[in-house]
Amino acid sequence: MSLPFNLVPNTHRTHPEKLAEIVGASGFVKHFSDHMAIATWTQDAGWHDSKIENYRCLDMAPGNAILHYGQEIFEGLKAYRHADGSIWLFRPEMNARRFNRSADRLDLPQIPEEDFLRSVHALVRTDQSWVPAGEEMSYYIRPFMFADEAFLGVHSAARASYIVIGGPASPYLADGMTPTDIWVTKKFARAGESGTGAAKCGGNYAASLIALREGAQYGCSQVLFTDAATHDWVEELGGMNFFVVTHDGVLITPPTSGTILEGITRDSILELAPALGLRPEVRPLSVSELFARILDGDILEAFACGTAAVVSPIGRLMHDKDGGVETIPLPSPVGEATRAIRTALVDIQWGRAEDKFGWMHTVMELS
Ligand SMILES: *Cc1c(COP(=O)(O)O)cnc(C)c1O
Repeated sequence: MSLPFNLVPNTHRTHPEKLAEIVGASGFVKHFSDHMAIATWTQDAGWHDSKIENYRCLDMAPGNAILHYGQEIFEGLKAYRHADGSIWLFRPEMNARRFNRSADRLDLPQIPEEDFLRSVHALVRTDQSWVPAGEEMSYYIRPFMFADEAFLGVHSAARASYIVIGGPASPYLADGMTPTDIWVTKKFARAGESGTGAAKCGGNYAASLIALREGAQYGCSQVLFTDAATHDWVEELGGMNFFVVTHDGVLITPPTSGTILEGITRDSILELAPALGLRPEVRPLSVSELFARILDGDILEAFACGTAAVVSPIGRLMHDKDGGVETIPLPSPVGEATRAIRTALVDIQWGRAEDKFGWMHTVMELS
């Protein structure tokens, strides 16, 4: 039986003038749209009480398990408005599947893929006037699920809430193609073997924040994490996957073998690469190989990628070396390959290029 996500009658809508102002402004989700999708799960009744209602604050007891043990997962995807006004999602079924993999790891209930998709479509359809039309602007969608039960004993929740919220977004990093400086931390890890690194959960982000602060001391806006056991192997950023491009067109990214999140942008880039004259190579990349080959001029470009920032070029890597800080500049801070990959991806997302892989799904087709 499928979960309906119908609009509760007489919900509030933002005044059109105010809405125009919000939707036209830049920034990454500074305002949430008028509605949210919500459903409740209990051990006894399964999923029920699903609807689209006003975006609102949640009622929560101070003893709610989510506030204590962090049993939470989330997703992030975007709705794109094409030139003809139609609204599209990019590979949303991948988000649905990953959400359930994350749920499995955090011992939260599964939500059928169709219900996940229906909730996303229903929210975007309801708040379609919140989907911007501007260059590179989108409506960012945040589905999440959490233990929603007041108890302090440590066990998986017998009650969970699933909610989808969203809001207008310009690219996560203010200017999409300005190279960023990245701190390579060997002090902190975001994920360990058999841990939750492959799950999209708030706890991974909580564990990564201190490294952001470490890097910020040196002017770095993002952190590249290495493996927890040896700090010898490159993994990913706090919320983005990592790629390098060699002078002879090899595109290298480490394998997602449990400690790295399986990014949908990452996967899409690997699929797009051959047509751009790049040879994808998914293999372990050591920190020493990375640094040495950049300094040799053999690795020319590096970039981070994810739904929010799309493709973000890396200008310099910085790390702690013998008590000092070594800066390793990329020979091509905004390289040709990085540019080509970004363009290929955003052209598909905004409907300017043929969608050869069938990645785009129009929002109006599900009811
Ligand atoms: C969400 C996320 C990514 C990027 O995944 P996309 O599906 O490309 O948005 C990469 N790493 C981490 C840790 C993430 O949470």
